[in-house]
Amino acid sequence: MVKNVAAELGFPAYVVGGYVRDRLLRRPSKDMDIVCVGDGIKLAKELANKMSPRPKVTVYGRFGTAMLKYQDLEVEFVGARKESYTRDSRKPSVMTGTLEDDQNRRDFTINALAVSLNESNFGEIIDPFGGLRHLEEKLIKTPLEPGRTFSDDPLRMMRGIRFATQLGFEIEQETFDAINQYKERIRIVSQERITTELNKIIVAKEPSIGFKLLLKSELLQLIFPEMAALEGVEVKNGKAHKDNFYHTLEVLENLGKNTRDLWMRWSAILHDIAKPPTKRFDTKIGWTFHGHEALGAAMVPRIFKKLKLPLDGNMKFVQKLVRLHLRPISLTKENITDSAIRRLLFDAGEDIDDLMMLCEADITSKNPKKVQRYLANYRLVREKLDEIEEKDRIRNWQPPITGELIMETFDLKPSRVVGEIKTAIREAILDGDISNEYQEAFSLMLKKGQELGLTKAS
Ligand code: ATP
Repeated sequence: MVKNVAAELGFPAYVVGGYVRDRLLRRPSKDMDIVCVGDGIKLAKELANKMSPRPKVTVYGRFGTAMLKYQDLEVEFVGARKESYTRDSRKPSVMTGTLEDDQNRRDFTINALAVSLNESNFGEIIDPFGGLRHLEEKLIKTPLEPGRTFSDDPLRMMRGIRFATQLGFEIEQETFDAINQYKERIRIVSQERITTELNKIIVAKEPSIGFKLLLKSELLQLIFPEMAALEGVEVKNGKAHKDNFYHTLEVLENLGKNTRDLWMRWSAILHDIAKPPTKRFDTKIGWTFHGHEALGAAMVPRIFKKLKLPLDGNMKFVQKLVRLHLRPISLTKENITDSAIRRLLFDAGEDIDDLMMLCEADITSKNPKKVQRYLANYRLVREKLDEIEEKDRIRNWQPPITGELIMETFDLKPSRVVGEIKTAIREAILDGDISNEYQEAFSLMLKKGQELGLTKAS
């Protein structure tokens, strides 16, 4: 159908870019880009007119593109273009061009493949830069001289690393060297575009590939210096600490086997983020990172803000996991009281299972015996958590006595004492002094009120 309409209009048309790449790699794809040498919007509209039922055509006038939905695909139409960049501007000037011009402005050879939709050579792959060979060789390479491609749009450096991560490809040496050389140009790219690529790396099957490349190219030091700072080992008096960058990547990979959730993965990335600023050397015990969980939690909103990640419940979730990530370890010690278990259930609430998953991923010992022992310890913690939860229902804890009831009982206005009584009841339940029940809580409220000199309303 496209063939006929394109011929009628005299606009040669081609499928280009990611769709062609993904089809050749047998990866699923949701978007198809069609480039025509002519007016893309007109081609989309004419084509829609010939289809039944006629699909809706969405026109993006500012970009000169049009989109229609066909089965599960979003098909985008655009006229072939030529772009020219000046050094100081992010925005290229765009002119109409040939298919070749359009392929030249693409980021990588594997993304510059075009399939003809025209009568004379329908289905032929037009591959001016060896993209087919690079798909075979699993290679990321720029079509033009890499310095020019990256300088024109520095986001391509992030995209290259993202594709290497998603596809498990190598970045060709000259291309990689150019990323290192042009890394500073990343500063002209908007944070939103950078973070979109970073998140794609994070949810990939093997995110560590991307982070190692980001570190090696020195882009990480620019876009996420707190994470780059985790790298390195210091030795003092013959004592070394582990390399927290590679440890973090291992945790991320371990966790990644169990979840693709972006925010769980962010909690793995950030769990030890405050180790560099809390690092101290103690002559007796060696390296310590005291308080890294609390400082780490305090760093989370700052990092989210800088990376333009949403400052919402997901941020709070990551922050909570960072803050609590050492707590389950403390519960593996002997003679753990029920109260300590209840307190963790109270603090973690609904996120207790995710927290346990993070802690299990945090075991990165190379000694299989130790790994088994730590895992067994956590199994015991999980059992205890289940046991106490069943008994005391702390996970979704709602105070058995509300503030309203306290105010009513003692004829009080909202005030500090109401909070004091509520806290006393909560602490007594968590400590196990009273059970998590209305009657016992009510009695404690009366007792507490009396101590505070309150009188019961009649
Ligand atoms: P994904 O769908 O996984 O993001 P993709 O390659 O389809 O991968 P898109 O962002 O949809 O990515 O881009 C489609 C095509 O447009 C790419 O294959 C590439 O040819 C071209 N392209 C996209 N962004 C750039 C860019 N910054 N520089 C050059 N070409 C680009």
